[in-house]
Amino acid sequence: MDMFYIGFRDPLFSIIIFFTIIFVITFFSYWWSRYRRKEDNSHLDKFLQQFRTLPTKNELKILISSGELSRKSWMLLAASYSKNGDYEKSIEIYNEILAVTSKEDLYETMFLLGKTYFKAGFLERSHQMFLEILKYNPRTPQALHYLLLVYEYMRDYKAAIDVLEPLDELNEDILLDKAYLSALALLNDNTIGEDEKAQQLLNLYQKSGKLAFMTFEYLFRVNPSLAWENFNFDDAELLTEVLWRMDSKDLNLDIIAKSRYLKELYSARGDVNLSDGSSIFELDVLIGLEGRANATLSFEYVCKKCKGSYPFAFNRCTTCHAIDSAMVEYTLSKDFVKEFSEENNSFQ
Ligand SMILES: [Zn+2]
Repeated sequence: MDMFYIGFRDPLFSIIIFFTIIFVITFFSYWWSRYRRKEDNSHLDKFLQQFRTLPTKNELKILISSGELSRKSWMLLAASYSKNGDYEKSIEIYNEILAVTSKEDLYETMFLLGKTYFKAGFLERSHQMFLEILKYNPRTPQALHYLLLVYEYMRDYKAAIDVLEPLDELNEDILLDKAYLSALALLNDNTIGEDEKAQQLLNLYQKSGKLAFMTFEYLFRVNPSLAWENFNFDDAELLTEVLWRMDSKDLNLDIIAKSRYLKELYSARGDVNLSDGSSIFELDVLIGLEGRANATLSFEYVCKKCKGSYPFAFNRCTTCHAIDSAMVEYTLSKDFVKEFSEENNSFQ
């Protein structure tokens, strides 16, 4: 037992005491700093929380009616909420501003509220708002444009076409809208057969020189031979996805052989062997691979006007509402369909 006993005068005892004191001091200082940090963080969180939480409807009412912030500041705040997708808060602010706004600013606020209702998908409220503006200010092209959009989204194409008349009287360019809305009305008319629709759509395209994607996407779907007969090579690039996804049996080799782009496209897909290469990288790689790899094209669409990009084709941009502004872009990607069918075959 003596070997475990350390006397008070033993230098070893002093060393043990010394290290024990150091340990205790270090432990407490570590614990204290952790505690302080936690306290600081919770205080900071509490402080920041009041900026993160949005004011309630009643708080907004009091804040706006008190006039501490200018109308312009509230309008900017509402616009920024709307831009960030918080339409509910933006609508609440606009509604409260409307309650205290002067007559000269009334229609501007109503217009912005109508726009936010439209963006949020409250089409009926938006409709009422624009009608109210136009009741007192019929010569407001911006409100007419939005009213047209509301009718289009409500699929009331006849009412949308009626809005074109006052827009025309205000010297607004309505030709493209007219062709587009007529095409939409036609495509959604259940009383007309597919062939008749295809022919009328083609007439609209030939008359306007626009709506190539809308027309040929439908034509290639319901009547490929009519589509090939009237195919314009200038539209080939825009229609790349439609052409790429077309069934092999619907291809018209005589027409394909007349276009360098189509020869390259279908050589890349492996239907024909009419090109040795292409100046377009993606097509050149696919032609070179000769189907030896699971590669295909994947598509996305960019709006020429607002530069927004979308995974699907569109006839009217959902962001800037421009018609016929889509531009196709494609890249090489893995062909999952081919891979899946090969894997299935290997199991059989
Ligand atoms: Zn756009």
